[in-house]
Amino acid sequence: MTASQNPSALAGAVLTIDLDALRENYRCLKARLRGAACAAVVKADGYGLGAAVVASALREEGCRSFFVAHAAEGVSLRRALGDGPEIYVLNGIYPGAEDDCAEAGLTAVANSAAQLAAWRDAAQRLGRRLPVAVQVDSGMSRLGMSAAEVEAVGPDAFDGLDLRLVMSHLACADEADNAVNEMQRKAFDAARSKLPEAPASLANSSGIFLGDAFHYDLARPGAALYGVNPTPGQDNPMRQVVRLEAQVIQTRDLETGIGVGYGHSFRTGAPLRAATIAIGYADGWPRRASAAAWYGGRKLPFAGRVSMDSIVLDVSSLDADELAPGDLVELIGDHQTIDDLAELSGTIGYEILTGIGHRFHRRYRGDGASAVPQGNI
Ligand SMILES: *Cc1c(COP(=O)(O)O)cnc(C)c1O
Repeated sequence: MTASQNPSALAGAVLTIDLDALRENYRCLKARLRGAACAAVVKADGYGLGAAVVASALREEGCRSFFVAHAAEGVSLRRALGDGPEIYVLNGIYPGAEDDCAEAGLTAVANSAAQLAAWRDAAQRLGRRLPVAVQVDSGMSRLGMSAAEVEAVGPDAFDGLDLRLVMSHLACADEADNAVNEMQRKAFDAARSKLPEAPASLANSSGIFLGDAFHYDLARPGAALYGVNPTPGQDNPMRQVVRLEAQVIQTRDLETGIGVGYGHSFRTGAPLRAATIAIGYADGWPRRASAAAWYGGRKLPFAGRVSMDSIVLDVSSLDADELAPGDLVELIGDHQTIDDLAELSGTIGYEILTGIGHRFHRRYRGDGASAVPQGNI
């Protein structure tokens, strides 16, 4: 098969990823950190934007540490980046995956005494030193060693291992006034004092905005790099990285009193011009979002329910010849950000980002984009 002549026409929708904005977001976070280093969290395929592309662009900005969730993500990221950058596996190494992870040069995040012991055993079995991070549970009760487990870590627990990082994760970092943040910081310090000396890491995107005391040696932003607001309730300090556009399939004129879409949940109250666009909930667009599309600065509200592969818009505000099949309307961009859409659908920007994009044509823009194969990679 030859490469498509017009991939964006084959797909219903186009996701444009601005690598310049991504890089600028990285520089902005790094500037806030002053002395501390800045990693990048690229789990879930770089929050849906393509982990290999995102990580390669950020490496050019000087990023040396990357975090993924699953070992499989780490193995494919290592293939994309080659030797050099440190790749941490946040969920730790699942039983039986130790040899593959050692081979790929991944750094295990040990979340429990059992994970730490299995990684140490692998190091001894393979006869080589393996890099490890220890995650302690400072109060989120999700992943990490409890205070009791930390207390029980014996002097030989790190035999054959190279302790690179002691880390923990904040449960309420997006609420700057929440007392849990300070409580977790103290619990983190208490746990660190019981472990061998190593660089420390606590802050995710929002954690960076809690102040210097939360920065430690390495910050681990994900969402903010991709344009999600790390300071909810205040202006978004980050640049938008993604734009989502879907193409018009057909238009029609409807009279008053006509039902539109499943369940006829919408009925025209006046003559209405409708356009059906090629995106639906199977593309990760939230079915609950009663949002709008935008065209030429004009707002085009949804009419009726979101279908699996299509959505009907009320385009009455446009002239009849203004919008034709094949034209692209904007669904995420300056008029309607990821955070706006999250608010409209009762979720968070993270879920919107990681949900979209697997069925779209992906187009990269900005410095480094020309080296990337464009498409659904
Ligand atoms: C996902 C994750 C991050 C990144 O969080 P953001 O809020 O996206 O910045 C950092 N650390 C851990 C442990 C995570 O699971």
